[in-house]
Amino acid sequence: MPATSVPAVTHRPEERFDEFLLAAAATHPDHPAVVEYADGTEQVTTFGALRAAAERYAAELDRFGLRIGDRVMIVSDTSAEALALVLACSSRGLPFVPVSPETPAERRETIERLAEPLLCLSAAGGPAAAVGHGRFGAGRIEVPRPPLRRERLRHAVTPGDIAYIIFTSGTTGRPKGVVMSHRAVVAFYRGMLAEEFVSVGDRVASTSPLQFDFSLLDIGMALGSGAAVVPVPRALLRWPTRFLKVLRATRATQVNGVPSIWRQSLRHIPDQLAGLPDLRGVLFCGEEFPLGELRHLQRLRPGIRLVNCYGATESMAASFAEVPDPLPGDAAHLSIGNGHRGTDILLLDPEGAPVREEGVVGEMYLRSPALMTGYWGDAEATDAVLVRDPLEPRSGQLLLRTGDLAFRSADGALHFCGRRDSQVQIRGNRVEPAEVQRRLLAHPQVREAAVVAYQGSDGSTELSAFVVPADSGAGTAESDLLAFCLRSMPAYMAPSVVRLVADLPVNQHGKTDHRRLLAQLLTDA
Ligand code: ADP
Repeated sequence: MPATSVPAVTHRPEERFDEFLLAAAATHPDHPAVVEYADGTEQVTTFGALRAAAERYAAELDRFGLRIGDRVMIVSDTSAEALALVLACSSRGLPFVPVSPETPAERRETIERLAEPLLCLSAAGGPAAAVGHGRFGAGRIEVPRPPLRRERLRHAVTPGDIAYIIFTSGTTGRPKGVVMSHRAVVAFYRGMLAEEFVSVGDRVASTSPLQFDFSLLDIGMALGSGAAVVPVPRALLRWPTRFLKVLRATRATQVNGVPSIWRQSLRHIPDQLAGLPDLRGVLFCGEEFPLGELRHLQRLRPGIRLVNCYGATESMAASFAEVPDPLPGDAAHLSIGNGHRGTDILLLDPEGAPVREEGVVGEMYLRSPALMTGYWGDAEATDAVLVRDPLEPRSGQLLLRTGDLAFRSADGALHFCGRRDSQVQIRGNRVEPAEVQRRLLAHPQVREAAVVAYQGSDGSTELSAFVVPADSGAGTAESDLLAFCLRSMPAYMAPSVVRLVADLPVNQHGKTDHRRLLAQLLTDA
């Protein structure tokens, strides 16, 4: 049968990822959509230019005769070109699979093996010998050995089709491909935009790699609001002076990222951070922001809007909670608020009964139109987290079992307190390492802390704490920190070892790398 036997798109769906992001191209074609930093200056791509670039890439993609649903792996950082390619894939119903250029080759190969992309494109070009590998740039796609043209089976891209697949670390170490539909992403964007974080004229600095869905949150926040996204080159994040230089040069009004992006600037160049002229908002996610650092940021930038964004790749995010300004002196940790508009978070005890009492810990279940479709090629893992509504299983509705623990305070706000799977049994008692970490962070001489569970030489489970002392913490003694823990918790919860370290390692996404800490413990043992 010839490849053209079924007509291409026969109607225009309204809910596609690319249509949503490019809506401002119709009303504000001359407004900046992407502001990049190169050689000390800004390079602006307008909404009109971004749409034109996406259309060029879409025409290029058409040459390959792919089917709706065929994956396109994009090895790239966030850039105007990469974004145009992503939008082009979306317009043709080709799920994109973003992978960072810095991803180790072995992991990239694993993702490629699991996702089975028909095209694998990078700005630098791929291994020339491999079918479907090639280069993108300047609106062109060059693939020396294109894949075979495929017979078209489908007519139209629908909102339930896959927009992208993002491979997360997965607690087992095997990457899990989170499949997100156009409908889910657009529902998430709508819920987020109701919070009115930014508006036309704003510039949203995005510091997460493209393979971390937080970058897609940034892009949705910016473009969906008619504002511009400012991709911060990843290599500059390690250098606080350069990082702030990019924020200054691009006139970023909002900066999104994991808490660790602020660490070096707060430590080494607080005055420059205080002096940034345009910064009005910071949104952080992925892990808790150490309160000492957060207070420091508030002191340096009075009136700044700080937002704690909680969630996982499986729903892009779930809640946005504004940090009180100033944070009360007795606040021990941050609230994550409640589900964003259109979502609801249910708290259940281990028996599956709703937790109603204040302060009692339960697991969070998310009811939302923005849930993933499932894990790519892994029905078992999908069934474990997309579960029937525990309140009304007959409805057939699925909720996301987050694996995250929380309790409610008197005002109904949720407070994150660790993950179900990191809970350990110590001498028969259930212990959540995050709770011990939080206690350590409450010590005035502690800047950062991480607590890891490991098997001691006799096979018993032990906790080890890694602590970065605050500047004034010269002379902080491990024994003081232990005593501080023991003042508020039973002996079995106190770490058996407290190590003072200069820094905590972070993973590719900038979150504290617990696996590396564990490896360090095991090598030292
Ligand atoms: P990965 O599992 O690869 O780190 P995710 O970004 O999906 O990728 O991780 C989501 C998890 O990160 C959540 O389930 C939660 O445990 C934690 N998390 C996310 N945001 C916050 C936050 N604001 N505060 C505390 N923990 C968070």
